[in-house]
Amino acid sequence: MGIKFKAFRGQHDGTIRESVGCVDDVGDKDVLIKMTHAGLCFTDTHYIETGCVLSHENCGKIVETGRKVSHLRVGDTVGFGFVHNACGKTSCDACLQGNDTLCSEARVYGEADLDWGGFGEYAKLDGDFVHKIPDGIAPEHAAPLQCAGATVFAPFLKFDIKPIHRVGVIGIGGLGHLALQVAHKWGCSVAAFTLSDSRSEEYKALGAHEVIVTQRADGSSFVPQDEEDKFDFILSSASSHVPWDDYLDCLKPRGQIIPLANFLGKFETNRYPALLARENKVGGSLCATRYEQKKMLQFCARHDIKPAVEVLDLTQDNLNHALERLKKGQVRYRFVLRHV
Ligand SMILES: [Zn+2]
Ligand SMILES: [Zn+2]
Repeated sequence: MGIKFKAFRGQHDGTIRESVGCVDDVGDKDVLIKMTHAGLCFTDTHYIETGCVLSHENCGKIVETGRKVSHLRVGDTVGFGFVHNACGKTSCDACLQGNDTLCSEARVYGEADLDWGGFGEYAKLDGDFVHKIPDGIAPEHAAPLQCAGATVFAPFLKFDIKPIHRVGVIGIGGLGHLALQVAHKWGCSVAAFTLSDSRSEEYKALGAHEVIVTQRADGSSFVPQDEEDKFDFILSSASSHVPWDDYLDCLKPRGQIIPLANFLGKFETNRYPALLARENKVGGSLCATRYEQKKMLQFCARHDIKPAVEVLDLTQDNLNHALERLKKGQVRYRFVLRHV
């Protein structure tokens, strides 16, 4: 017997409307979650026309556990993000290595379980794919950490970023403002790349040791001339066109650019010879494995890393307002919708 519940879905005409979701019986390994908070991520704008229940930055409380779930209890605060499940088979190298995000049978937001998103009242997941929220992280902060926090944290483990490294961040929005905080607490030398210097003090407060303005009145280049000032890693959370050649010029030998945001344009470069001669790399990273999620939550709790959030009650009007401001780039830095 299923439960029907209130849920906000994207529509074919690009709007978000109140609708109905449904969860069926809770299986032996499942947990049923009553959602309390959900973030609005720019990636959601790419999924509006799929008709799924929106939001992949989810936080709520467990209201029912399956017979075989022993590590979670009713009342626990948990979150989940982009990946809902992976095959777990021994025939899958990705799963055997813990790389849930690379499993070819992974069930992910917008493609599977279309009734289960943070803007619905309930969601049902395999208990092994939800993340228990540590004490000290408020639910309105835990929600954006499920995508934005996890996405910016994962490369620090995946690409072995060390405290001796110099890290630059492109795109100081929902992801980027967390990347500055994580890189700073990780011990790196941190720079924020920005079009103008109007928010320099804010970026420094978030953890940037330096702010590099990329659009200059005199037309001069922002690329550091001194090798010492160049970067070991540049994390890009920009969701629009980036002048990649300029940023490739900003890398030290063996330096890497890591695109993180869902950008639907092309990646083009004229720096092929430099990629060879300086052994530079470009390596994408999309969301996080369960291990990376767990370590991210522990790290954020320990270092008091919090997304800057604007919390609104989850209503049709507030969602439309939040979506409009998100599309105009007017959010500092994340909208979180609270279930009422
Ligand atoms: Zn996201
Ligand atoms: Zn698999």
